[in-house]
Amino acid sequence: MATAISVQQLAVSFRTRQGSVAALQPLDLELGAGRIVGILGPNGSGKTTLLRVLAGLQTPTSGRVQLLDRQANDPALRRLVAFQPDGPLPLGVLSAPEFLAYVGAQLGLPNAVSDARAQAWLERLELQHAGRRWVRTFSSGMQKRLALAAALLGEPSILLLDEPTSGLDPIGSGVVMQILRERAAAGMTILMASHHLLEVEEICDEVLVLQGGVLRARGTLAELLGTDADSLVVRGLDHDQLQQLAQAATALGGEVLRTERQRDHLFALFRRLANEPVRGQPK
Ligand code: ADP
Repeated sequence: MATAISVQQLAVSFRTRQGSVAALQPLDLELGAGRIVGILGPNGSGKTTLLRVLAGLQTPTSGRVQLLDRQANDPALRRLVAFQPDGPLPLGVLSAPEFLAYVGAQLGLPNAVSDARAQAWLERLELQHAGRRWVRTFSSGMQKRLALAAALLGEPSILLLDEPTSGLDPIGSGVVMQILRERAAAGMTILMASHHLLEVEEICDEVLVLQGGVLRARGTLAELLGTDADSLVVRGLDHDQLQQLAQAATALGGEVLRTERQRDHLFALFRRLANEPVRGQPK
C-alpha cells in the first residue's frame, strides 16, 4: 500500500499569554492510501492542529510532514489535499451554488467542470432545495454538508475532515458516511476527527487516539478492540430452551455473560419514520 501521509517527529506549540502550549508532542505516523482513519481524543487533544498542519494551514514548530511525497505547504498539493474545517462557513452572503463556484475558481477548475460537479454534490447532499438562500442562513447541518461538497469539488487524493457529521441528523450522517466509503474505495485517503465513536467504529479502517497532544494509541479496530474470544448469538429458542443452552454452556466451562431481549436500533426507527408519511401525532 502506497504511503499517503508521512509524519516524523511533528511537534506544534503555541505561544499564549500564559506561556507556551504544546498542542502536539513529537509524533510519528505513516498512513496508507485509500484508508479511512479516525482521529479520536477529548477536546484540546490536538486533533484540529494535526489536521491543520496536514492541510498546510499551520506551520509545525518542528518535524517533517509529507503528503503524497511532497512537503505539506507545496502549492502542488492545493488540489490534491482538501480540508473541511469545523464551524460556520466563510462568505455567508453567497448561495450554495455561488459558494461552490467560488471554490471551483480558487481550485482553477474549468467552469463547466466545476458547475457539473457542484450540481451533482448539491443533489447528493440534498442541498439543491436551498436555491438562492444565503449560506449564513443555513442550519449547521446544511453548512456541514456544503463544506463537504466544497472539499470534494476538486476530487482530492487526501481528504481531511474536522467533525464531518457534527450537526447532522442520522439520515444525513448516513449519506455522508456512504460518500466517504465510496471515495475511499476509489482510492481517496480520508482522515477524520470525530467524537462520534459509533460512526468511527463503523467506517474507519484505523484510528489514532490523541490525548494532551500525545498519540496514545493507534491501530486497526481489530488490533485495538479485538479479543481472542468468540461468542455465540442465538435466535429462535424459547425461554426453557435458552436455559438448557445456558446450562450446557456452563457445564462445558463457559461463562454465560447475559441474556437480553432482542430489540431494533434507534437508527432503524428513525429511518422507518423518515420514510413513512406523517399521519398526526403519536398517541
Ligand atoms: P482538539 O481539536 O483536539 O480539540 P486543538 O488542536 O484545537 O484540539 O487544540 C490543542 C491544544 O492547542 C489546545 O490546548 C488548544 O487550546 C491549543 N491551541 C490550538 N490552537 C491554538 C492557538 N491558535 N493559540 C493558542 N493555543 C491553541
